[in-house]
Amino acid sequence: MNKDFYLSNSLGGKKEKFVPIDSNKIGMYVCGPTVYDDPHIGNARPLVIFDILFKVLKCKFGDKNVTYVRNITDIEDKIIQSSLEKKISTQELTEKITKNFHDDCIYLGCEEPSFEPKATENISLMIQMINKLIQNEYAYLNNSHIYFEVKKFNDYGKLSNKKLDELIAGSRVEVSENKKNPEDFVLWKPSKDNEPFWESPWGKGRPGWHLECSVMAKKYLGDKFDIHGGGRDLIFPHHENEIAQSRCANKNETFANYWVHNGFITMSNEKMAKSQGNILKISDFKNKINGQVLRLALISTHYKQSLDWNEKLIEECQNTINKWYEGYIELYKKVLIPEEYLKPLYDDLNTPGYITNLHKLFDKTQKGELKDKEIFTSACNFIGLLTETKSKWLDFKKNKSDISEKEITDKIYERNKARGNKDYNLADKIRKELLDKGVLIEDKDGKTVWKFK
Ligand SMILES: [Zn+2]
Repeated sequence: MNKDFYLSNSLGGKKEKFVPIDSNKIGMYVCGPTVYDDPHIGNARPLVIFDILFKVLKCKFGDKNVTYVRNITDIEDKIIQSSLEKKISTQELTEKITKNFHDDCIYLGCEEPSFEPKATENISLMIQMINKLIQNEYAYLNNSHIYFEVKKFNDYGKLSNKKLDELIAGSRVEVSENKKNPEDFVLWKPSKDNEPFWESPWGKGRPGWHLECSVMAKKYLGDKFDIHGGGRDLIFPHHENEIAQSRCANKNETFANYWVHNGFITMSNEKMAKSQGNILKISDFKNKINGQVLRLALISTHYKQSLDWNEKLIEECQNTINKWYEGYIELYKKVLIPEEYLKPLYDDLNTPGYITNLHKLFDKTQKGELKDKEIFTSACNFIGLLTETKSKWLDFKKNKSDISEKEITDKIYERNKARGNKDYNLADKIRKELLDKGVLIEDKDGKTVWKFK
């Protein structure tokens, strides 16, 4: 494929042509979950977006030439806090939440990344990087804590495009008497008696959160690589800190070349936050809505914009997938998608533009040509949609309804009787009752047919 590929780069704030360091070795690192609580819909957005970016990169550069690393943060203050509250070990908690996270990834139709390293399995590399930072005079030891001295790194704030004092003024920096300066951040800290710990040259302790991404990116992708992704909320301090640590430890002018950040999710135009009580867990949807509907909803807005999550959006996406299955055909071979349809994805992963093209392709399937159905299905599959056979999709919908086929046909019989008696009020009431249970009825050629919504 010759088409150029463009991505919005937070570093510099422009849309840029993507030029890989080595087109046979594309590297992408995305910050993964901190496994202290079940993933919510806000966590689902980067999962799906970077899954699609992974697919697009593989399509452009070849399956074997793209490495996607997404970490699991399994040691962190929130994990310790949550395990104490739940009275279980941090290990028990993180294993359980990691499993739930993986289940959610499958539900959302996401591919596994090439590597999914855990922080606790890479502590010795973290100690190595801290040693390097001390040696290069960017980090200092005070009272069993190691801190990174931010002002020694001149490019701090470049990703946010803000000066250091602006960044500090706009954030809550952790206050500690152990720090030389308020903006310094912790690389290593001592563990309390009831907390997990690892041996280190500075005593028993554990790493700071920011450090693990620098270490795991280096392990799998090297000192510099192509794309680093995550939610926009990670730009400061997390990604600024990653850049500072990596560049100062590796003595390198670059770390990741392209920084890709997705926007927030709002709930009926309000910020989603625990304090607002409007956090929706991914698992809350599992019994009600097929994962493909959620997937479509998550990419219905461009990844850079904020996405408003509301009932109407879900309903629209449900209707779209229902409709699209009418144009579906089971594929037994790889079917090429004409380049003109892929174009929006190569322009900064414009998923709404691609969805418009899917609607156009769907319209073509209505002429009944087999080839059109194949292309349409292949184009949907490319972004992880219509990945279930039609019968599985219908089964899912059927299982979600608590009405049996016998009850439906009985109701239809009753309704037709009412219509025969010209009792249109009753007939209408029965139609509505069925609709509430997800059953759509239609009178066609003197017969009444029904289907699940
Ligand atoms: Zn990270």
